[in-house]
Amino acid sequence: MKEGKSGRKIPRKKDLDIDVIPADDSILMTEKSFLHSTPKKQKSVFDEENEEFNLPFEKENLDLTEKMDLSINASFSIEENYSFNHDDYLKIPDGETLLPGGWLTGGIIDKVILSLITAIDLDKNILYIDSINYLSLNKKRYGSIIQYLNQVQAFNKDMILVCINTDTERGEHWILGVIVFKDKQVILLDSMRQSKLQNDRRVAFINCLIIAFISAQVAKINLDINEWRCIYSVDAPQQENGYDCGLFVCLYAYSILKQQRFITVDSEKGRKWILNICLNSEDKYPEISNEMKLSRSGVENIINLINTLNFDRLRGGREMIESNIMQSLKKPIREWSYCDFESCSGDPNWSQAQNFCIVCRKWYHNLCDQNGLNADYFYCTKCLKESKNLIF
Ligand SMILES: [Zn+2]
Ligand SMILES: [Zn+2]
Repeated sequence: MKEGKSGRKIPRKKDLDIDVIPADDSILMTEKSFLHSTPKKQKSVFDEENEEFNLPFEKENLDLTEKMDLSINASFSIEENYSFNHDDYLKIPDGETLLPGGWLTGGIIDKVILSLITAIDLDKNILYIDSINYLSLNKKRYGSIIQYLNQVQAFNKDMILVCINTDTERGEHWILGVIVFKDKQVILLDSMRQSKLQNDRRVAFINCLIIAFISAQVAKINLDINEWRCIYSVDAPQQENGYDCGLFVCLYAYSILKQQRFITVDSEKGRKWILNICLNSEDKYPEISNEMKLSRSGVENIINLINTLNFDRLRGGREMIESNIMQSLKKPIREWSYCDFESCSGDPNWSQAQNFCIVCRKWYHNLCDQNGLNADYFYCTKCLKESKNLIF
C-alpha cells in the first residue's frame, strides 16, 4: 500500500498482491443483504465469550488465508521449537546477549519488532519507534523525531509501538508503550510492575504523549492531551527473573500484532524464538519521503509547543490502572469497509477507493466526500468545517 501525497487509502488488490479479504463480518453477509441494508459502522469482531480473538479471516475464511503467503509468519511462530548451537548466537550483532541470563540490547529488540511488523502488519498501520529514537526523545532532543514522525506520516497510522528504556540511575528496564490514536490512549506494558519505579513510569507516559502530540502537529492538528488517558496495564505477563524485560517487550509486540492473548514462554525458549527471527528475517523501516522535510522554523515551533505543555497534570489522576488491556487493543484495525459519509451513495464493496480522515479517523469514498482536503493527509468536509483543532 502506498502512502503518498494524498494520505492513507484503501489497500487495493494490486498493491497487496494477495486476494483482498473483507475486513469484518461483511464476509458472512450475502451480496443481497448489502443491497438491502445501508452501510453501517463495522461491528467489533471480538467475541467476548471466546477467549481467542475471533478474526474472521483467521477462522471462517481459511481458504482465502491460505492464498496469502503465511510462510513468513509461520517461521516466527512462538509455538515452534528452535534449536541452535553456540556459534549461531555469534552470527548477529549482540547475539551473545541472547544466551541465558543476558540482557537484551535495544538493537535486538528493534530488529525483532520491526521484523514482526514487516511480516504481520501487511497494511502498514502500525508504526514502531525504536530504542534509538526513544533515547533521543528521553534526552529532550526532539528535532530528529519530529522530522521522522513527519516523514512517515505517523498520524495516518492506527497505532504506534514505542520501545521504552527507563535509563535511570536505578538501572535500565525495557517497557513497551502503545499509542492508540483513535481511542486517545497511551498504554504501558511493563513486565516488572513490582519495581515501583513510579517516576520512570510517569516519564514514559509523558514521552508517549509527546510522540502523539508531535504526530498530530506535523499533520496540522492540535492534539489536546487533556483528552488522553494513560493506562498502566496490570494484566501484562510478568518476568520471573531480573533480565528478561527485553524478551517480554518482544512478546507483547507479538501478541498485539497477532491480535492474540498475551503469552509467556520460558526464558530459554523465548530467546531461541528471538534468535530465529534475527537470523531469518527482514526488518524494514518504513519508506520515508524526503519531500516532507520540515523547515528549521517548523521544527522549532513544535519544540516550543512541547516545552510549554503542562504535562504535570498527569500527576493527578490522569493515569489509570486497567486490566484486560488486550481486549481494548483487539478492536479491528481495518475499518475501511464502510463509508461514513452521511448520504453515502457508494458501493459498500471493494470497487471504490476511500480516504481516511485523520481528524475523525473514519473512512470516506472519494466519490462521496469530494470537498475534503486531500493533501499530505486527508481531512473530511465535516472536520474541515467543524473541528477546532485544525491549525491551518
Ligand atoms: Zn460513500
Ligand atoms: Zn473527518
